[in-house]
Amino acid sequence: MKIYNTLSRKKEEFVPIEDGNVSMYVCGPTVYNLIHIGNARPMIVFDTVRRYLEYKGYQVKYVTNFTDVDDKIIKKAIEEGITAEEVSGRYIEECKKDMKSLNVKEATKHPLATEEIDGMIDMIKTLIDKGYAYEANGTVYYRTRKFADYGKLSKKNIDDLEAGHRSIKVAGEEEKEDPLDFVLWKPKKEGEPFWTSPWSEGRPGWHIECSVMSKKYLGDSIDIHAGGEDLIFPHHENEIAQSEAANGVEFSKYWMHNGFLNIDNKKMSKSLGNFFTVRDIGEKYDLQVLRFFMLSAHYRSPLNFSDELMEASKNGLERILTAVANLKHLESICAEGELTSEEKEHEAAVDELVKKYEAAMEDDFNTADAISAIFEIVKLANSSADGESSLQYVHMLKDTIVRLCDVLGVIAEKEEEILDEEIEAMIEERTQARKEKNFKRADEIRDELLAKGIVLEDTREGVKWKRA
Ligand code: AMP
Ligand code: ZN
Repeated sequence: MKIYNTLSRKKEEFVPIEDGNVSMYVCGPTVYNLIHIGNARPMIVFDTVRRYLEYKGYQVKYVTNFTDVDDKIIKKAIEEGITAEEVSGRYIEECKKDMKSLNVKEATKHPLATEEIDGMIDMIKTLIDKGYAYEANGTVYYRTRKFADYGKLSKKNIDDLEAGHRSIKVAGEEEKEDPLDFVLWKPKKEGEPFWTSPWSEGRPGWHIECSVMSKKYLGDSIDIHAGGEDLIFPHHENEIAQSEAANGVEFSKYWMHNGFLNIDNKKMSKSLGNFFTVRDIGEKYDLQVLRFFMLSAHYRSPLNFSDELMEASKNGLERILTAVANLKHLESICAEGELTSEEKEHEAAVDELVKKYEAAMEDDFNTADAISAIFEIVKLANSSADGESSLQYVHMLKDTIVRLCDVLGVIAEKEEEILDEEIEAMIEERTQARKEKNFKRADEIRDELLAKGIVLEDTREGVKWKRA
């Protein structure tokens, strides 16, 4: 499997540090607003990377953070007259809802920056002890020039670098030894949330968060670190400088970055005001369509958002869902039997298309080509399966399409919703069967309900049920 590594600017064979295991850290959003669909792009593409690694049999540890202490959160709290914690708490919950609707798998760990301050203070202490950081009037700075590899990810030459990066200017910055030095810890301003540290009552800089959370939950060296391409510099460059200086080992083997989601060929962003939230899109489309749209382009390419492309994605997805629904119907009417020789030929063709799908994913997660392979299977299913087909053949087609979609996080077969009335009716039938001493039927009904996630409990007052 090949992954494009931003560190080498090449596609490299993927070899994890530990056989069979993958550790992955994805920089998460700053939570001061509902997430926009640009923020959703890294969530969707790296969730898909994770799903494919799991499909290959790797055990994946997936950590993604919430940045819940930041100037923008504090500003919003002041505007609304509430605490920063209330602002971040609210938007973390909303973000989790959006991630669920986008079928993004729950992370192995979802750390919050504010819960990891002790670890940040420890790492800053280590950096000071090793001579990579210094304090000036309560602020701690990273001594950028001391880290010999600075610039290795962004390919920037340290002498060409200007000081104008994303770290926020605070009082005392004139005391920097060098304009390139960046903040690790800064003193509080009046009314801001703060933590006690050896240097001042204050809060950590943004970059140190990820170095610390990645170390704590995944270890000093990890396999994949990912985020949007705007994070390459300075965020990820600074993370490398902090982690490698503190831990003395390579921070991450592979660095993956997604391209921007654009609108009218400009980056969609909160500051430009040209964004749609995931909620906005959810009002018009099933969010599976948004996920399908995101995966219809290569994750490293820029992707322009438009109504036409969303409509095309909607139609494409419907084509798959309709094919699966038809196959499901055929499963209820087709008879069991040996595969005919024609079906065997088709089965071999499907195997080839699965290989094509896998080859696309192995080539730096080319989801666009992977989706084309699914469409080819759908086409074959539509033209070859009917009421005369053997049940095994229909099964094979449906399972293959559903499985390949699932790796992309696209749900092709919806679980059938069972209504309360249907459950009650089945319980009634079971009670009747038991009265007639037809225990076989009674057990069958219990199992059928269990398969639909309904658990029965026989009590003195009668049968109770709950959704598992
Ligand atoms: P932020 O909350 O701005 O730190 O962004 C959270 C994540 O979303 C980061 O990985 C960003 O790189 C990513 N991101 C923000 N805007 C876009 C966009 N328009 N397209 C793709 N990724 C984005
Ligand atoms: Zn980060």
